[in-house]
Amino acid sequence: MQYVFNVWESIYRRIRQSQNRLLLCDYDGTLTAIVDSPEMAILSDETRKLLGSLAHKSGLLVGVVSGRALSDIKERVGIDSIIYAGNHGFEIEGPGIQFIHPLTEELGSIMHLMGTVLKRTLGRIKGVIVEDKGVTLSVHYRMVDDNQLTEVTSAFENTVSTARKLGKVKTTSGKKVHEVRPAVPWHKGNAVQLVYDKFATSRKKGQVLPVYLGDDLTDEDAFKAVNDLDGLSILVGAGSQVSAADYYLNSPSEVNLFLAELLKII
Ligand SMILES: [Mg+2]
Repeated sequence: MQYVFNVWESIYRRIRQSQNRLLLCDYDGTLTAIVDSPEMAILSDETRKLLGSLAHKSGLLVGVVSGRALSDIKERVGIDSIIYAGNHGFEIEGPGIQFIHPLTEELGSIMHLMGTVLKRTLGRIKGVIVEDKGVTLSVHYRMVDDNQLTEVTSAFENTVSTARKLGKVKTTSGKKVHEVRPAVPWHKGNAVQLVYDKFATSRKKGQVLPVYLGDDLTDEDAFKAVNDLDGLSILVGAGSQVSAADYYLNSPSEVNLFLAELLKII
């Protein structure tokens, strides 16, 4: 993995030489700093302004791809005329795109039931936040006391293990969050591919350069999709994590620097 600003010349050239670019960003930990509670992840005015200005550039389509519910991510970002992919891509909307995964409604009721159980079993542990996002669920435990972490994990496992064994759901664990998703092969990588395909049909294939920025395990699928499309995959917050990304930036504030540079060269 190479640091974006160490190889800026070559990145610069690839962006300049493409006529059409697709810029997709994760939200939490990428556009905003990681915070204690998901409620507190507010987009800064600076980042909103940068994204808004980029959205007005011709030859560039901007989108936000998040594990949050579509309504939540739209409200938090609040920019018209960009693409929003919520719930890891189960719901996508924006200019020229309106997509809801066909199983969303059916799976939503299973998820809701499981959310009710999780709220009941985990509700007694201080600091746990169970988020029912419709087609997916998140259990946030950043604010839980260290000595109760095993309790959170075992209560979570007890609740989800049966449904997982039956092949109804799959679970992932990221930065202080356990997530439950329907066991259908659909993830941020599919969302990237779907948006790319829509965008590329009206243009010549291969002339669209996709760029993806993300910070967590669920972004790895998106990095792989972007790599397959000869795009730029950028991990935010390098750490020691093994990643499919080709490049990295150190923090969400460096993402702002990157966005500001894009604004100058597109
Ligand atoms: Mg993230």
